[in-house]
Formats: sequence, structure tokens, C-alpha cells
Amino acid sequence: MRYREIILNIPKEIAEEFTDFLDEIGVAGYYEILFDREVPRAPDEEIISDDTKFRVYLAEEDRENETKLLIFLKATAGESFYWEARWIETKEYEEAYKEFYKPFTVGTYRVIPTWEKETAASTTPEGILPLLINPGLAFGTGHHETTRLVLGRMGYLSLNGKKIADVGTGSGILSVAAAKSGASKILAVDIDPNSVRSATFNRDENGIAPGQMIVEEGGFDHEAVQNENWDLLIANITFAVLKANIQKIASIKTDHFLFSGVITERKEEFLELLKDRLGGEGIHFLEDTGWELIEWKRKG
Ligand code: SAH
Repeated sequence: MRYREIILNIPKEIAEEFTDFLDEIGVAGYYEILFDREVPRAPDEEIISDDTKFRVYLAEEDRENETKLLIFLKATAGESFYWEARWIETKEYEEAYKEFYKPFTVGTYRVIPTWEKETAASTTPEGILPLLINPGLAFGTGHHETTRLVLGRMGYLSLNGKKIADVGTGSGILSVAAAKSGASKILAVDIDPNSVRSATFNRDENGIAPGQMIVEEGGFDHEAVQNENWDLLIANITFAVLKANIQKIASIKTDHFLFSGVITERKEEFLELLKDRLGGEGIHFLEDTGWELIEWKRKG
């Protein structure tokens, strides 16, 4: 059987409405490609771009939905979407979802797509912790430099028995890593409901108890994030979001912070902000193709 594959670029702000629409009309399949891009990032471009790529699959005889999709996008996005359609064979469709996600090692962790868990988990070398991740509709496949920077650093921190808040958890990848490293309690929050669903799914896939890794919708002002004591706060979020939330970040009861998602051009401004609002100093820095990892200690 053949499928119609529609490759789309749509504004990020309509992505949720779009997936609701896809669920409603019922398509053969779809997925969002989050940051596996063919074009390199522009020097001043931040982590989340304004549009997002989708692939939608329709059954061969389903011509009606192709028209519905086009009408939906014209009505909600006007001219600001890109559309390309082609015929593919069944096998391609089944493999398409998986072509971007292959197991890979970052520091002491091995990121394994959930659909490869049977084969890949058993071949993970001694001392390497497998993280089973299905990125679904959330950010956090592990491919992005900022995620890799945090995962790389986490392997050097002693997380055993620690309490960790992960704000902007996306797929939950960093929280899953913390749990695998023995953190006793992790609170993973995200303002995006898709991320909450995705992080919950990934937690369960990894056999992590819901009491060890709590996933909830929210941001820096989430009640428990603000009111409980944390050994470490992790936030892989853009500079703009960190800056806008700096007062809320400062009031979190922790002395240890791991930030990523800040581009090199904003590093100095961010460090000034931290010095001014949090106090303390940077204790570890790492850069990867224009992205900065900043580990901060409030007091010695
Ligand atoms: N932690 C994951 C995902 C990082 S992407 C990783 O390291 O790969 C950043 C995430 O932050 C996105 O899922 C986005 O929905 C979320 N986010 C953006 N602004 C936020 C805010 N103000 N509060 C909480 N989460 C936010």
C-alpha cells in the first residue's frame, strides 16, 4: 500500500491546534521534527525557532483529508506555511519516524529510542546508563547541543540521593538521566502539555517510579519548584526565558544551578544577571557550537 507523505513547515504557535486537528480528522500517522535540521543555525538564532516541521501520512485512498489539511493551514497560517507532498511505499512510512533517532552515547549515558529498547538496551556497555527516549512531540531527543552539554556534565556530578528540579523538561530526558544516576527525587515541569505527556511516557518506559520523578505542568513559579529545597536546579531554556524569569529563578531554594540554552553572544549578559540577582559565581563552563553550559554556585 502507498501513503501520501506531506512535509510541512508551520508556525510554532499553531502546532498544538494543528495536532488537535490531525487527531480529530484521523490521519495514518504524523510526527513533528523538532531540531533535526538540514540547515545550520544562524549565529543569533535561539533554541526554539518560530516554525516547526511536520510529516503527515495519509492512506492512499484518503484524498479528502489532504484537502482538509490544506484548508486548515490556509485558514490558520495564511501564507506562512510550506507544503510538499509525495508518494511513498509502506516500508518507507514505517521507517520514516525512526530515521532521525538512533542510539548514541553522551558522556556516561546512552540515549536509546524506545522502539529499539529490546536490542539496544542489552548491548549498552558496563558503566553506561541507558536512557530510553521517545521524543514524541516534545523537545529533547538528545541530539541538540544544549541537551548534550547538560548530559555530559551530569555524568560528573554526584547525583546519588539528590533532589533535583528540571524546569523545561521537554521529553524528560535530563530527568530520566538524573533518576538513572540515583537522584532520590526529581520534579520535572514544562509549560507545554505535550512535554508533560512525553516526559511521563518516557519516565514510565524507563521503569522510574512516579514518586521518584514527578512530572507536572508548570514553569519557574510552579509551587513545589519554589517552595521545596533542591540540591540542583536544571534549566535548558533560552536566554530570553531565563532573563524574563530571573527573579523566580533567584527565589528557588537551591545553591546549585545548571543552565544551558544560552547562546555565546548572550553569555556575558547572562553571567552579569546571575551575579546581580543570584549572587555567587560560575563554577564550570562549556561551549558547543555557539551554545553555552553554565554551572553556577550561589555560595561556597
Ligand atoms: N530539557 C530538555 C528540553 C529543553 S527545550 C532538553 O534538555 O533537551 C526547552 C523546554 O522548555 C521546552 O520543552 C519548552 O516547552 C520549555 N519551556 C519554555 N519556556 C518555559 C517556561 N517559562 N517554563 C517552563 N518550561 C518552559
